[in-house]
Amino acid sequence: MKISELLSKDKITISFEVFPPKTSDRFFSVLEAAGGIAALHPDFMSVTYGAGGGTSAFTADIAAGLQETYGIPILAHLTCVSSTREYVARIVESYIEKGIDNIMALRGDIPKDGRIAEDYRHAAELIRDIREKGDFCIGGACYPEGHIECEHKKDDIRYLREKVDAGCDFLTTQMFFDNNIFYNFLYRAREAGISVPIVPGIMPITNKKQLSRSVAMSGTNVPARFAAIVDRFGDDPEAMQQVGIIYATDQIIDLIANGINHIHVYSMNKPKVAEGILNNLSAVYKA
Ligand code: FAD
Repeated sequence: MKISELLSKDKITISFEVFPPKTSDRFFSVLEAAGGIAALHPDFMSVTYGAGGGTSAFTADIAAGLQETYGIPILAHLTCVSSTREYVARIVESYIEKGIDNIMALRGDIPKDGRIAEDYRHAAELIRDIREKGDFCIGGACYPEGHIECEHKKDDIRYLREKVDAGCDFLTTQMFFDNNIFYNFLYRAREAGISVPIVPGIMPITNKKQLSRSVAMSGTNVPARFAAIVDRFGDDPEAMQQVGIIYATDQIIDLIANGINHIHVYSMNKPKVAEGILNNLSAVYKA
């Protein structure tokens, strides 16, 4: 099923993200964790893709496994900056063979050594290629606080519009911890003529290290209210998990209350976290 179809409905949807293992010895434990999340019957699940191509084969295998076993629509990610056009074509072919209808098309982060394959500079180029190769629903990434490499938010929105014009059916945001940042971004995106669904990505922070790692990578702002929570509970793993789930749920409730029906949760291979969020929303969202 195409995710664009789900996003066109006037109904609350909640989706979860998992990431593939870096090495094959962890494949089955990741599959088990992903299965634990799928068993909660989210509207769809996404499977990320290793930027350097290291875990690329696992993405298709996990995506196909979840789709087959649980009948859940899957969004398989694909990055391009470290790959040749020929390699990308092979991956897209493997997605077609495995019956995957939805691709999140990304540039990927520039590797630390700066070495890129040179065939792709931006996600828009990948989106155009995927469009030509099959009848996919294509998602793209967006950044309410601006992408970390982009100096001016205005340019970032202009490039985002180009990306959507290249053939994006919907966008998913990077994490944010202050919903006002999302509302402001939504306004600016609509003003720039971006009319596709924009799905907020919510990251439940369940340990202190995860926060510093995520913030270092993305430049996401940590509001004082959330910083105080992490400061108070960050050294108690159980408490941090509980308050992280509550904070994420609070963000989701506020989004739904403000008319945002579709929510993506960066559940990070943690079935307990996904379940905690759904339990908190049991009367609001019926899976
Ligand atoms: P782009 O849209 O190409 O943008 C990258 C930068 O280039 C931005 O600063 C943009 O403003 C600029 N830009 C765009 N077009 C132009 C142009 N024509 N001229 C000049 N500048 C331009 N990473 C992974 O490795 N695997 C994943 O599975 C993954 N999933 C993700 C899912 C989501 C929802 C998000 C938000 C991010 C994800 N990422 C993933 C991270 C992503 O790969 C990085 O943030 C990457 O640095 C940018 O990818 P992009 O597709 O947004 O790139």
